[in-house]
Amino acid sequence: MKIYNTMSKKKEELVPLKEGQISMYVCGPTVYNLIHIGNARPMIVFDTFRRYLEYKGLKVNYVSNFTDVDDKIIKKAIEENTTAEEISKRYIEECKKDMDAMNVKPATKHPLATEEISGMIDMIKTLIDKGYAYASDGTVYFKTREFKDYGKLSKKNIDDLEAGHRDIKVAGEESKEDPLDFVLWKPKKEGEPAWVSPWGEGRPGWHIECSVMSKKYLGDMIDIHAGGEDLVFPHHENEIAQSEAANGVDFAKYWMHNAFLNINNKKMSKSDGNFFTVRDISEKYDLQVLRFFMLSAHYRSPLNFSAELMDSAKNGLERILTAAEKLRDIKNSGAEGELTADEASNVEKTKEFVEKFEKAMDDDCNTANAISAIFELVKFTNSVTNEDSTKKFADELYNVLETLSDVLGIILEKKDEVVGDEDYILEMIEKRAQAKKDKDFALADSIRDELLAKGIVLKDTREGTKWSRA
Ligand code: AMP
Ligand code: ZN
Repeated sequence: MKIYNTMSKKKEELVPLKEGQISMYVCGPTVYNLIHIGNARPMIVFDTFRRYLEYKGLKVNYVSNFTDVDDKIIKKAIEENTTAEEISKRYIEECKKDMDAMNVKPATKHPLATEEISGMIDMIKTLIDKGYAYASDGTVYFKTREFKDYGKLSKKNIDDLEAGHRDIKVAGEESKEDPLDFVLWKPKKEGEPAWVSPWGEGRPGWHIECSVMSKKYLGDMIDIHAGGEDLVFPHHENEIAQSEAANGVDFAKYWMHNAFLNINNKKMSKSDGNFFTVRDISEKYDLQVLRFFMLSAHYRSPLNFSAELMDSAKNGLERILTAAEKLRDIKNSGAEGELTADEASNVEKTKEFVEKFEKAMDDDCNTANAISAIFELVKFTNSVTNEDSTKKFADELYNVLETLSDVLGIILEKKDEVVGDEDYILEMIEKRAQAKKDKDFALADSIRDELLAKGIVLKDTREGTKWSRA
């Protein structure tokens, strides 16, 4: 399998550090709000990549953090007159709900920055001891020029960076020795969360968090480090400098970055009203559609979000789900007995689509082509099955379709739109009561039948209408 490595700017064969295992770190969101659909892109594409590695039999140790201490979180806490902890806890919960609805598997570990402060203090101490960092007035800075390979990921030349930085003076950072140096530890400001450290009370810089959490849960050297392309510089460049200076070994063997998601061909921006949270989208679509939409493009290509493209993703997904439904029906009511000779040969033919799917995924996780292979399989299963097919045949075809769909995180069972949503059921009961009052019995009956079709049984009692699941 080949993956594109941002470090070498080439597709490289993926050779795990330890045979049969992959260690992977994906930079997670800063939790100060509901996640937006841009944040969902790395979650979905790297979850899919992980699923494919697992499909290939690799054991994946997948770590993705939540950045739960940050200026934006503190700002939000002040606005809401609450604590930063309350804000981050709330949005971690909400983020996990969205991840679940997008069928993103929980990571092996989701570390929280605030629970890893002692590790961060240790790494900063090591960097100071090794001459890569210095403390000044309660702030600790990384000496960027001391790390000779600085710029190797983003291919930036340190002297060009220096020229760009010369005039920039940031308030509170007057004690910096070199404008290129970046913060590892910052001193406490009134009302902000802070931890005790050898340099006084304060909190860590953003970059050190990922270096430390990756080291703790995956080791000094890992297979894959991933995130959105905006993180290449400075975040990942700084992570490399910190980790390699402290640990003395290469940090990650492969660097993977997803391209950005735009809305209606414009950069996502809250202030321009060009912005959707995942939750906004869930009001209009099943989030499987969002997942399918994200995978319809290669992860390194920019992706444009629009209502038309979402509707086309919805139709594409529907084609797969309808084929699956047909196969399920035959599994239930098809002919008994063994596969016919024709059926056996058609089962054999599905291998061609599986190979196409794998070839696409082996080529730098090309989910767009993998989806095409699934469409071909769907067309094939539709053409070779009918009411005379055996149950066994439908079962074999279903298993192939289900296995490939599962790699993409697509669940084949159609979700019955709103069953399970109590508010919806109560609303329907009320509508039915009104219809009865209006003597519109046809409408009242049709509401009862509609609910029944969704497995909800109504019973009229003296205390009103009660409902239960069939
Ligand atoms: P943040 O919370 O801003 O650190 O972002 C969390 C993750 O989402 C990072 O990997 C970002 O690179 C990624 N990300 C943010 N905005 C977008 C976008 N519009 N398209 C794709 N990825 C994004
Ligand atoms: Zn990170």
